[in-house]
Amino acid sequence: MRHVAIVGSGPAGYYTAEALQKLYGDEVQIDMIDRLPVPYGLIRSGVAPDHQSIKAVYKRYEKVALTPNVRFVGNVGIGPDVGVEELKELYDAVILATGAPNDRPLDIPGADLAGVVGSAAFVGWYNGHPDFAGLDPPLDSAGAAVIGNGNVALDVARILAKTRAEFAGSDIVGRALEALEASAIRTIHVLGRRGPHQIAMTPKELGELAHLEAAVPRVDLADFPPEADDALLEPGMRKSVTHLRDFASLPGDKAKVIDFDFFAMPVRVEGEGRVERLIVERTRLTEDLRSVGTGETYAVECGLVVSCIGYQTPPIEGVPYEHGRGRFANAEGVIGDGLYCVGWARRGPTGTIGTNRPDGFEVADKVFAAFPPKGGGKAGGAGLDTLLHARGVEPVAFRDWQRIEAAEAARAREGSPREKFTSIAEMIAALGR
Ligand code: NAP
Repeated sequence: MRHVAIVGSGPAGYYTAEALQKLYGDEVQIDMIDRLPVPYGLIRSGVAPDHQSIKAVYKRYEKVALTPNVRFVGNVGIGPDVGVEELKELYDAVILATGAPNDRPLDIPGADLAGVVGSAAFVGWYNGHPDFAGLDPPLDSAGAAVIGNGNVALDVARILAKTRAEFAGSDIVGRALEALEASAIRTIHVLGRRGPHQIAMTPKELGELAHLEAAVPRVDLADFPPEADDALLEPGMRKSVTHLRDFASLPGDKAKVIDFDFFAMPVRVEGEGRVERLIVERTRLTEDLRSVGTGETYAVECGLVVSCIGYQTPPIEGVPYEHGRGRFANAEGVIGDGLYCVGWARRGPTGTIGTNRPDGFEVADKVFAAFPPKGGGKAGGAGLDTLLHARGVEPVAFRDWQRIEAAEAARAREGSPREKFTSIAEMIAALGR
């Protein structure tokens, strides 16, 4: 029997567990360790609450979780409760599937002013992640700036623009819903440091903006290259750029505007004690498509800045780390003897949820080759239980999570699948502990 610990229970973790089951059959015991008492990582806390069809992928992970050789070990932190070296003693292989939940820092003067928040915090707030549920972002000014031209920037702009009715059927947390309904924000400036041909937004997500109840997207066609150049783009990108161009002919008769500002590089945040404006420098593209400043600046009046410029994997003491790329140092998923990484912790924060599947299968192949079935002798989960018990740590099992899930469903507002608990204490209290 082989014993594998997967740290993190998001998409990358579950796809890897699924792959290990396929390879080993009954000859493996997998523990999925998560610092939260609830599983699914990015699916629960990152995917937008109004994108329930994407969130439905959790049903696939649930199937894996309910098989006898997979165990969810929630409420156990790597570092405070158990170390990676200790896990390596207990398990044949340890696979880090910790994602990239930290924001890449916005490295400009004034970025520490109140009202400047990273997307991890902002997205975590409306999704009820315990680390960010108390964020209370300032929504009391007419302007908001969203920095970045990726899908996360789109999520944030859309959430800021939606009406209460448009959140029907979503699992946005009640506190965020109330705050957004009372929001004074009327113009959402989406700032890209390069041009429309360099966006990282996918067509489906971009197309949604044309159909919002109370908001309309706006572009300036002067920012676009000649239309004939769109033919050179790959099909998905061409479709996205077509959506952007079409925004120019939408009637501007709605209360809110999502204003796409290209060639716009934030250089400074200003305000007395809190954000009042973002100073932006106009850019141009170099031949190799990098952005460089032109020296011309202008001010965007705003009381909230959400920086959506990418994520980083939190380092773990003793595990080699690539600081420039914000991920574990690894060779195709191998960090060292018996230590692996998958998903965003391996590749950095790129790709869709589905990208993690082949990634997890590839690393599972490597684990299988290094630790063939029928070998072993490690203590595995029983050893972990002994160690946690001695430290007074009471893990949350999958059946416990199912009770938390049922309690969340029971207190949901009408039409919503759940009303999430937003603190670890509330989650544990739902178990009667
Ligand atoms: P992303 O796609 O890498 O986009 C990051 C954006 O930030 C880029 O436009 C980048 O511009 C810009 N940027 C980076 N550093 C900057 C700086 N210092 N100043 C100004 N702008 C800066 O990252 P993401 O939006 O966080 O998304 C992460 C991954 O999750 C992506 O693969 C995304 O597709 C995926 N995702 C998918 C969905 C969905 O399918 N519905 C939803 C959310 C996220 P440059 O291009 O100039 O570097």
